[in-house]
Amino acid sequence: MATITKAYGATSAKDSLKPMDITRREVGADDVKLDITYCGVCHSDIHTVRNEWGGSSYPVVPGHEIIGRVTAVGANVKNFKEGDLVGVGCLVDSCQECSQCKNDMEQFCEQGATFTYNSNDKHLEGKQTYGGYSSSVVVNKEFVLSIPENLDEAATAPLLCAGITTWSPLRHWNVKKGDKVGIIGLGGLGHMGVKFANALGAHVVMITTSPAKADDAKQLGAHEVLISKNEAEMTKHKGSFDFILNTVPVGHKMDPYISLLKNDATMVLVGAVEPLEPFHGGGIIMGRKRIAGSLIGGIKETQEMLDFCGEHNIVSDIELIDIKNINKAYDRVVAADVKYRFVIDMASLKSEMSL
Ligand code: NAP
Ligand code: ZN
Repeated sequence: MATITKAYGATSAKDSLKPMDITRREVGADDVKLDITYCGVCHSDIHTVRNEWGGSSYPVVPGHEIIGRVTAVGANVKNFKEGDLVGVGCLVDSCQECSQCKNDMEQFCEQGATFTYNSNDKHLEGKQTYGGYSSSVVVNKEFVLSIPENLDEAATAPLLCAGITTWSPLRHWNVKKGDKVGIIGLGGLGHMGVKFANALGAHVVMITTSPAKADDAKQLGAHEVLISKNEAEMTKHKGSFDFILNTVPVGHKMDPYISLLKNDATMVLVGAVEPLEPFHGGGIIMGRKRIAGSLIGGIKETQEMLDFCGEHNIVSDIELIDIKNINKAYDRVVAADVKYRFVIDMASLKSEMSL
């Protein structure tokens, strides 16, 4: 039987988030149900709630950095059992048959992947998917991740999006020991990018607009900090980077960052899903430089990243909040004032709704 579940969501782009009831499907043969304990707050949640990318369908219940304990499994589920600590990221379904899915890149499913929120729900006709700002969720077993038990539960939540979104390009472009790697933007994604690039043995440079974050950047694993607004400092680093990961969440000037790349080097965009300011073709032609993009990562790669984090004791640096403070948290993320990922303690949703 479908169940009514407590959630927090927005009913329009202008609305703040507030309590609401949503429906979760009954647990099918291939499904896992979990009680959500923690959910991270990604800047994509804000873009979607505020319809900044277009295509938001209301109500929007965001949240795709989900940690929880299994409460029920379907008859075909062999890998998970009641009580297991599990995670759900940005994907909850895909066709599983196309070449992209077969190659473990479900995010690029040719039939269209089902994202954790604001996607058409294949199981509940006429409804869209609702994310992790809720007390429970039912997910196909192929999209449930195992969480290493040695890691702090709340601080693990951001790995499900901020973690995989930075891990995947660092691995795909083969970042290795000794490479000079720039991470642009010290927010949720950026701080994970710094940790991973450091763990892979790179020489890590935090490229930030916020001088006040310099000490934190070094503690997180940056070897140097480059203030992007300082032209003299930018000139010193010209032509010296093997790889740059750009997490800036909005359209921006690319030329200053392109000029930092070595010949044949790549800058990967993960942030700005919107028009960028025009950049000069000469900046990439001279030096055969590349600009690329990357979208989260597949399920297999996400599990590999989680296992790596378990072995190397890597988690996110978080500010744990009660759900009633979510709207204030959104304003702080937009103001680039998060240290370095908000995570919602979902126990606060239960107590809030019983008031
Ligand atoms: P976030 O926590 O807000 O961090 C973004 C950081 O970028 C800010 O803290 C700030 O760092 C810097 N920044 C902000 N505005 C800037 C500007 N105008 N110019 C230069 N730097 C600026 O956001 P997030 O959660 O890490 O997400 C980053 C972006 O990635 C969002 O757009 C999100 O939607 C997107 N995203 C993409 C994927 C994917 O699969 N491709 C997955 C998840 C998220 P400093 O103070 O250090 O400058
Ligand atoms: Zn995200």
